[in-house]
Amino acid sequence: MADRVVRPLAAKYDRLQEYPWEIRDALAEAGLFGTWIPKEFGGGGGGVLDLCLVVEELSRACGGVGVLFAVNALGSFPILLSGTDEQKHKYLEPIAKGEKLIAFGLSERPAGSDASGLITSAVEDGDEWVLNGSKKWTTNGGAADIYSVFAVTDPNSRSRRISAIIVEKGDPGFEIGRAEDKMGIRCVPVVELHFDGCRVPKDRLLGGRPGLGFKHAMMTLDRARPGVAAQAVGLAAGALEYATVYATQRKQFGAAISSFQMIQQMLADMASRVEAGRQLVHAAARACDAGVPQLTKMAALSKLFATDMAMQVTTDAVQIFGGYGYMKDYPIEKFMRDAKITQIYEGTNQVQRLVIARNLIKESGKLDHLSAFIPLPDHPNTLDDQARAERASPGA
Ligand SMILES: Cc1cc2nc3c(=O)[nH]c(=O)nc-3n(C[C@H](O)[C@H](O)[C@H](O)COP(=O)(O)OP(=O)(O)OC[C@H]3O[C@@H](n4cnc5c(N)ncnc54)[C@H](O)[C@@H]3O)c2cc1C
Repeated sequence: MADRVVRPLAAKYDRLQEYPWEIRDALAEAGLFGTWIPKEFGGGGGGVLDLCLVVEELSRACGGVGVLFAVNALGSFPILLSGTDEQKHKYLEPIAKGEKLIAFGLSERPAGSDASGLITSAVEDGDEWVLNGSKKWTTNGGAADIYSVFAVTDPNSRSRRISAIIVEKGDPGFEIGRAEDKMGIRCVPVVELHFDGCRVPKDRLLGGRPGLGFKHAMMTLDRARPGVAAQAVGLAAGALEYATVYATQRKQFGAAISSFQMIQQMLADMASRVEAGRQLVHAAARACDAGVPQLTKMAALSKLFATDMAMQVTTDAVQIFGGYGYMKDYPIEKFMRDAKITQIYEGTNQVQRLVIARNLIKESGKLDHLSAFIPLPDHPNTLDDQARAERASPGA
């Protein structure tokens, strides 16, 4: 499907920066939008690994289509994780059929990496929630019918400040704002959302209990980050394929450039990195599906490694195309542009490093038995002291 439907349209929608509804229709017809949704809510019953496999394949042909698809998982995970049964039936079924698209509204102008600093508010008024504020960078915004929106419901609480509320296209006081003009992933819209006294029924609060929104946003990111990593692996794999084919066809000095060892070295390094990234993504996705306790770290590891890898591999692919790689007439520069965002969204790679390091430090408690082998420099009984004692009375 990626080769037949997506690849021939990739350059067109990149140029137009328009949502490719014909691709959405084909994905819906193939039943792919239900990949990660349980069968009882109309989906295919797959997990994060299935999601990642589809995202990788789509991204191999177009990174924009990869995220156009994956962002529906990002938007629907909060419903899956915390929605009531009624909310799951109401929202997940049309998403699974591909009839409705969904978006995830967490980031705001003042709240990017520090998502907990968001200020959009939701106040109870009779049978309704009234939302005020704006969201920044909402992928799928405008195209989507359903929005998982995170808003402050208890400004005085430290741990239960934020709740997740579903907003639907057409709700009074809800408007789609400015669409961004982007470097890459240009076929999928990224917009601002505005809530100006936006009124939604009370039963739109996810799970029916306020205060759990931030926790569920973080749990969502744990499950969605392997999807970004899969997008990166697909982009890198797709760029490597183009670079390999080009290298066998382009001749210089009377020979195909693929016969030059420096090009071979680049291709070999690219291939080993792609495969390493792919295996790590699969391991992280399996960890998500198994619900292992190290989920957060695994998701961050896969996102960090695969997206940095994709930036390097797609840049090297452009290098193999030489000057032609720099031109928009060739498909390869788009891979490099599309890859860049994977290092930024769903938590920048600096943030992934923080997450990984924090988890490593937390887990180090389990490694206490190693302390016996590591004398601390300021401990009275250091190796140095022992060595000095040994010198003073040899054989003692
Ligand atoms: C195309 C696009 C699509 C997006 N889609 C969505 C979406 O659908 N839904 C959504 O909610 N959000 C979305 N985002 C938002 C995205 O997740 C944020 O852009 C990202 O989390 C970074 O926030 P920021 O842009 O405000 O950067 P900032 O947080 O301002 O960061 C700026 C720089 O500072 C670094 N930095 C920040 N804090 C630290 C720290 N503690 N230590 C070290 N370095 C730090 C960052 O790594 C970065 O390099 C999207 C963004 C883009 C660009």
